[in-house]
Amino acid sequence: MMEKKKVTLIVPCYNEEESLPIFYEAAAEVTASLPAYDFQFLLVNDGSKDKTLDVMRMLAARDPRVTYLSFSRNFGKEAAMFAGFVNAKGDYVAVMDADMQDPPSLLPQMLEILEGGEYDSVATRRVSRVGEPPIRSFFARMFYRIINRISDADVVDGARDFRLMRREMVDAIVSMCEVNRFSKGIFGWIGFRTYWLPYENVQRVAGETKWNFFSLFRYSIDGIINFSQAPLAIASYTGIVFTIISFIMVVFVFLRRLIFGDPVAGWASTICIILFIGGVQLLCMGIMGQYLSKAYLEVKHRPHYIVSESNDDETIRIR
Ligand code: UDP
Ligand code: MG
Repeated sequence: MMEKKKVTLIVPCYNEEESLPIFYEAAAEVTASLPAYDFQFLLVNDGSKDKTLDVMRMLAARDPRVTYLSFSRNFGKEAAMFAGFVNAKGDYVAVMDADMQDPPSLLPQMLEILEGGEYDSVATRRVSRVGEPPIRSFFARMFYRIINRISDADVVDGARDFRLMRREMVDAIVSMCEVNRFSKGIFGWIGFRTYWLPYENVQRVAGETKWNFFSLFRYSIDGIINFSQAPLAIASYTGIVFTIISFIMVVFVFLRRLIFGDPVAGWASTICIILFIGGVQLLCMGIMGQYLSKAYLEVKHRPHYIVSESNDDETIRIR
């Protein structure tokens, strides 16, 4: 008899004491309908301030398939997913939110597609943005348009982090050891053959989202800076254009002085030009600063996460 394939479900959790039990029940029901696979639940507690860790301990005591890691503080979802990938033992690995926005009921179909052998990963994409403020949808669309134009990352509009992938792909993700992680970009950058599974947006079952407009805005800027050098190029092109314009201006002012002898007029326009150039300079320096700050964090080689508690001795605690 062939050995069963192992499937790891990584679940990053931050303050999910209410959602996690609901997620576990739903996922356990789905896994029961898939006896051909060995499932591992890999719960990552990302420094929750509520009783999420207690819930994890309880689930682990009840179900031997549950492994949990608990971070020493909140490191963010990207770090939680990375810890999951580092510690996942499955032949297939999936990342799933604890709030049921990534429906476990999609798993059988995703497994079936991977078994077909034609794809290395099955990713989910929500096809509607119902229940989201229109202004957020507008900025989200703009972000996807921009990042796809200026980077190699190939980020799909509406893509969620929920995807099931083969071991090979997980190894590639773990090999990308950057500290500033933007998973949507990483998944696209490493390539492999991905099947996109559309589904209707689902509302979170309990608790509340950790995102607001400004954190999303910052996240999108991070994404662009992580996967594109275009803003830097734009800054230097702007410099070139302004140098050329200023050269023409100098010639113009010089000739006017020689021909008409009228040096003093134009105070208003001078001030406007000074302010404008000053603004452009600050903007370009700001862009450089953004890249510099990212580079600064990268060269420090600080760990992505620190685990303070786990029920598995083999857990890689610092990486
Ligand atoms: N999450 C996390 N660390 C954080 C923020 C969120 O592990 O610092 C987890 C959270 O518990 C959930 C998933 O990431 O399982 C998605 O978070 P959320 O539902 O807030 O994001 P949304 O679905 O609104 O994009
Ligand atoms: Mg959510």
